Amino acid sequence: MYYNPYDGIKNGEGEWLKSNFHTHAGTGKDTCGAYEIYDVVALYKEAGYQVLTISNHDYFSDVNVYQSKYDITLINGFEYSANLHMLCIGVNGLITGEHRDVIEKCIKQGGISVLCHPNWQYKEYWPCKTMMDLQKYTGIEIYNGVVFRLNGTGLATDTWDYLLSQGRLVWGFGNDDFHRWYDLARAWNVVWSLTRKHEDILCALKNGSFYTSTGLVLNEISFDDGAIEIYADAPDNYVKDFKYIFIGKDGKVLDEQYGEKGRYIVSGNEMYIRVQVISEHGAMLWTQPIYNNAFSSFNGVEE
Ligand SMILES: [Zn+2]
Ligand SMILES: [Zn+2]
Repeated sequence: MYYNPYDGIKNGEGEWLKSNFHTHAGTGKDTCGAYEIYDVVALYKEAGYQVLTISNHDYFSDVNVYQSKYDITLINGFEYSANLHMLCIGVNGLITGEHRDVIEKCIKQGGISVLCHPNWQYKEYWPCKTMMDLQKYTGIEIYNGVVFRLNGTGLATDTWDYLLSQGRLVWGFGNDDFHRWYDLARAWNVVWSLTRKHEDILCALKNGSFYTSTGLVLNEISFDDGAIEIYADAPDNYVKDFKYIFIGKDGKVLDEQYGEKGRYIVSGNEMYIRVQVISEHGAMLWTQPIYNNAFSSFNGVEE
């Protein structure tokens, strides 16, 4: 049986929410979060976002005080930075300790953990063994915007395929890791959530009900009668034909198509299938994997 994270879209109850979960702000001049929080929230609102997390390095910036002033859902969080960086989203205070304890406490508070920029500075900033030893984190950043002007690469789909192929069903996030204005809207998550309530958004994230994008919109995705059908769009662009790449275990390309839609017939032997869509102007979209339950431990939690 395959787990389809987009199953909930079918009944039409919910809405797509453009979200960034990695933002530095409000920590003072010459720091990572040099801009004031209200300025950064206003920037994201103007850029068309519905959800934002301010996530400073080992520092909890309570955004509740800003919520009433802005029509954008603000979810509390921070970037655990004492060791390898990790986002804690949906928490109500700073948590310290080893990664393992922080992840546990984060879950207890109703939040989720996401491993940051796995290829920052060098490949395997997050060593494979460390990622495999850790349990219960919800996902990893497969695209981190700020790393593209730093060392290493912000892209980590190689890390993602590694984890997925080891039987670890973790979700792929795309975040700006906003430090300065030119980091705005490099990559985002579009979450299919029942409502804009924090618990619904976090529930959607836990279930993988979102996709990651640098410019393309997911118009349709379905998995019925053994076929995955996907239809992406570039808003306000007359070009409607894109490259659809279907990717399986170990990052192997299962099929590559060019056209208005993509369609892949699942043989049943695939461990997982995820789709990457690329437009001619370089904008991309990554779906979460449709995953064969027989192989998985769900986010490191044995079921
Ligand atoms: Zn970081
Ligand atoms: Zn950061």
